Amino acid sequence: MDLNGIEESENVEDRRGMSSGSKVALGGGGLAIVFFLLRMFLPDSTPLIDNIQNQVQQGQTTEASSGEQTELTPQQIEDGKFAKKIFTLTENTWGQVMQENGMDYEQPKLVLFSNAVETACGSATSASGPFYCPGDHKVYFDLEFMKELKSRFGAEGGDFATAYVIAHEVGHHIQTLLGTSAKVRQLQEGRSQAEANKLSVCLELQADFYAGVWARDNQQYLEEGDIEEALSAANAVGDDAIQSKMQGHVNQETFTHGSSEQRIYWFKKGYQTGDIKQGDTFSALLN
Ligand SMILES: [Zn+2]
Repeated sequence: MDLNGIEESENVEDRRGMSSGSKVALGGGGLAIVFFLLRMFLPDSTPLIDNIQNQVQQGQTTEASSGEQTELTPQQIEDGKFAKKIFTLTENTWGQVMQENGMDYEQPKLVLFSNAVETACGSATSASGPFYCPGDHKVYFDLEFMKELKSRFGAEGGDFATAYVIAHEVGHHIQTLLGTSAKVRQLQEGRSQAEANKLSVCLELQADFYAGVWARDNQQYLEEGDIEEALSAANAVGDDAIQSKMQGHVNQETFTHGSSEQRIYWFKKGYQTGDIKQGDTFSALLN
């Protein structure tokens, strides 16, 4: 992407290099990575976080001393600037879309962190992957995640892959503002796990769709290969891709985010139509 001349968003808390002062689970090998990916792009971080931390802590646990600060590398500084500019572009797009639909856009915040972070949805580690917390309207993102996506899961990488992740999480903010997330949580209550998972897939695919709508609105900043980077990332984070990699087989009932094909389909649909009204993943998948 070419973001020359784009301002960095002011709605960013850059907590990278800062110690959280709490117990931090690091690394932990394969198990941590599994949960890392299961949690990826989860809309509501509340129910799963404790679970994950218990598991991850079977890995290496270290006590970080508070006040400790690590200096960012030039690359990390660049990556941060890029994320902040992308966030500006999401503010521009969604501010306008909401206005067109007669609503105010209550801007979310982007929190860049390393290792561990406290949120209104509980504490999380980098192993949680990027996520949106509806409780505080913040997107949490450890940018080092993008390296994992590339090295372990074969995504092409590239700057637009990062943009896609941010746009997907902002998509969950839109769902929160529109009341879709709350409605889905309500519908999930009392349902079987398989049915609840299906609803979760609809929500996730809609966030991918919104990411596509955002990309369409920002076409002028795209460079050759950018859309392919997003599609490659969407492909890598499909439930089937992750499951076959992690457990050697695929069980569709346990999908929470959608298959690679579905994720690509809905991102593309958003990109091609640029119209939020075309993103009814619920009717498309549940009937
Ligand atoms: Zn998500």
